[in-house]
Amino acid sequence: MTELPLITHWVDGAPLRGASTRTAPVFNPALGAVAKNVILASATDVDTAVASAHAAYPLWRDTSQAKRQGMMFNFRELLNARKGELADILTAEHGKVTSDALGEIARGLEVVEFALGMPHLSKGEYSENVSTGVDVYTLRQPLGVVGIISPFNFPAMVPLWFFPIAIAAGNTVVLKPSEKDPSASNWMAALMTEAGLPAGVLNVLHGDKEAVDALLVHPDVQAISFVGSTPIAQYIYETAAHHGKRVQALGGAKNHMLVLPDADLDLAADAAVNAGFGSAGERCMAISVVVAVEPVADDLVAKITARLKSLKVGDGMRGCDMGPLITKVHRDKVASYIDLAQTDGAEVVVDGRGIEVDGDASGFWLGPTLFDKVSTDSDVYLDEIFGPVLSIVRVASYAEGLDLINRSRYGNGTAIFTNDGGAARRFQNEVQVGMVGINVPIPVPVAYHSFGGWKDSLFGDAKAYGPAGIAFYTREKAITSRWLDPSHGGINLGFPQNA
Ligand code: NAD
Repeated sequence: MTELPLITHWVDGAPLRGASTRTAPVFNPALGAVAKNVILASATDVDTAVASAHAAYPLWRDTSQAKRQGMMFNFRELLNARKGELADILTAEHGKVTSDALGEIARGLEVVEFALGMPHLSKGEYSENVSTGVDVYTLRQPLGVVGIISPFNFPAMVPLWFFPIAIAAGNTVVLKPSEKDPSASNWMAALMTEAGLPAGVLNVLHGDKEAVDALLVHPDVQAISFVGSTPIAQYIYETAAHHGKRVQALGGAKNHMLVLPDADLDLAADAAVNAGFGSAGERCMAISVVVAVEPVADDLVAKITARLKSLKVGDGMRGCDMGPLITKVHRDKVASYIDLAQTDGAEVVVDGRGIEVDGDASGFWLGPTLFDKVSTDSDVYLDEIFGPVLSIVRVASYAEGLDLINRSRYGNGTAIFTNDGGAARRFQNEVQVGMVGINVPIPVPVAYHSFGGWKDSLFGDAKAYGPAGIAFYTREKAITSRWLDPSHGGINLGFPQNA
């Protein structure tokens, strides 16, 4: 039997086997088979990676903005030219179809392009002569070593939300990607090296809870950026903050799409299908609940059902619409909600079990699934299912729909579909959610705005990328300066006042 490839860490600009002997399997979800193994770091390996980042920091921090910008520009060019290679890695380990993998990379590239503006974005302010002969100005300086912990569902985009900004601002990084699809991070780190990044500035450490826990309490780590499920996000936030770190921890979601009776139902049905089933529903901004304001529910369900029947499920390399789920365990858990929906009185309009696929029979397949008349007391409604499952909840009015959305524990994304500008404007004002789409089902802000939810979808107060990303990865220093002038001498113990 041939031995499977082993994915190692990337530390100090080169692959590292590390001290730990623990490994985890990495599947090809479309084949349902283990394709590789990945090393799982021990606390000693975390020390090694952090030491590398810590040692690289002083030189990187003092590298000129022009040189940092030049390196990032090279990375942007290389990534853009070779994105097809990265998309193939994403499809092989995550399962998402090629077009979706390229979409994820495009959104990551946007952040790289945003980070190219760092010399402008991190500029301070200057006030001359605030008191006689005294000037005040501010600088934004990097933090030091920052830890980034990312989820399985965007193996390229989520790391790209963070490390380009952190690095362009002068920090050094230890990135701990999901152990389920780890190769994309190694590939990007090698590309950063090719772009001219000095060794130790970007380290990739693979692992599970053991590695994360060591990173959260490490005295040389100044900040943690986390993206993942809500319970882990809360744990990360509390643990890292308790250890004195700056933390941003983005969690899970349950995103509602409110369809008003005046909406164009064909456009709404297209949007619900695209946003509900793209990436097999494994997106934190997926629409998982359509809230239909009567009397449109019957029509909308019929239109969504017709569209679901035409979706091609299969191997992401074969031009299908939707790929497999990430693991068999996750596939089975998502499928278990179909039984639960039946038990809890919902109508299973489309059942994704046993669908025909264009791919290997052993893949982790589940076809598009649609539930109607879902009870808001059911776990089908309450849980983040994170799969190709869409629920319809019927309400009598805008106010009832809004109230439902605002009672959700999550507040990541939401959308309203309507042709009524007044209703849309009222919704954007009243809804308790961090990212809102008006006739846009997946309102992921562009890179020069920031991404993040409210309530249990984000712990800490810093959103990702955009202005919030600059603020997170830098800290402000205010300088008050006076150049020597004998007229300012003398003793005065009073609090400084400006004159
Ligand atoms: P996850 O929480 O299982 O894992 C995320 C990261 O945490 C991984 O790197 C993992 O190794 C690590 N981890 C897992 N268990 C841990 C533990 N007990 N202690 C410490 N670290 C641990 O999430 P996932 O399944 O990889 O990703 C899907 C989740 O991520 C969904 O809930 C989704 O909504 C969420 N997500 C949120 C956003 C957002 O921007 N809000 C974006 C993408 C994904």
